Amino acid sequence: MKIFLSGACGFIGSHLCRAFIERGYKVIGVDNLITSSQDNLRDIIKNKNFLFIEHDISKELYIADKIDWVMHFASPASPPDYSRYPIKTLKVGSLGTLNCLGIAKAKKAKFFLASTSEVYGDPQVHPQPEEYWGNVNPIGLRSCYDESKRLAEALTFAYHRQHKVNIRIIRIFNTYGPFMRADDGRVVSNFINQALEGKDLTIYGQGEQTRSFCYIDDLVRGILKLMEVEYQLPLNLGNPSEVKVVDLARKIIKMTRSSSTIKYLPLPQDDPKRRCPDIKEAKKVLGWKPKISLSEGLKKTIEYFRNLKHSA
Ligand code: UDP
Repeated sequence: MKIFLSGACGFIGSHLCRAFIERGYKVIGVDNLITSSQDNLRDIIKNKNFLFIEHDISKELYIADKIDWVMHFASPASPPDYSRYPIKTLKVGSLGTLNCLGIAKAKKAKFFLASTSEVYGDPQVHPQPEEYWGNVNPIGLRSCYDESKRLAEALTFAYHRQHKVNIRIIRIFNTYGPFMRADDGRVVSNFINQALEGKDLTIYGQGEQTRSFCYIDDLVRGILKLMEVEYQLPLNLGNPSEVKVVDLARKIIKMTRSSSTIKYLPLPQDDPKRRCPDIKEAKKVLGWKPKISLSEGLKKTIEYFRNLKHSA
């Protein structure tokens, strides 16, 4: 089995590379490293089954090898990252997706798209099922990410309908765990690092907004299962247990035994008020549901960031 994976050095991409190498697959990993680092692959970069190509997948790439799966996971994905690189984010969701679909078509490979719960925007339906079309501001601060992923889904379906490319689309809800960047600006990495450093935890708004946090191992397990079944519609993957941001902050302060307090900052534009996946489809199609509780996942993630600080 040979996998082509864009975004190989990213948080989710690096976990996938490791899972594929463990299974004995060959992996060609591509990344332009604008929001990630090769450090995330330090344990496998020299593996004989792994080839790393530093390249921006928004630009064409010719691959000589036979490929079984093209997996498109490249994109800035945290709100501060995609706000810093709005055009690159739009390019990787549009041109990057086209390039990956082109490789899949040429190689007669299956195509796997990492889409996002952001396609639902600031949702008016709770929890969000796959059939919900979303509530997205097309010119808001988040639109570079939301709209490029919506286009990526449309492109994937166009290749599926016109060229019969065999596709998978997952809509990934908030996911966390080791190999997130400490400074990626997401809520879990921010709070843990602030707590470990004794700094105030920065809550945007009143912290009444909710998210549902999935531990990375659960997500990877879902992705591997989806590769084994024939299901070509978008599928939500996430943890359906919903928490308020303020409760997450309190939990992290407690778990790290930190002396930090909470600081309230303005809420960014278009920040979704509630987000929670409806995963009945994933349960039915994959027999999958998350197994790792927030407490267990946070414990492992706190441990990871603590060790990073000690080894720095
Ligand atoms: N958030 C926060 N403090 C932070 C970072 C994020 O209160 O330091 C909030 C953010 O406004 C959002 C939620 O936490 O409501 C999740 O933010 P994140 O950037 O992790 O992902 P999102 O789900 O918004 O893409």
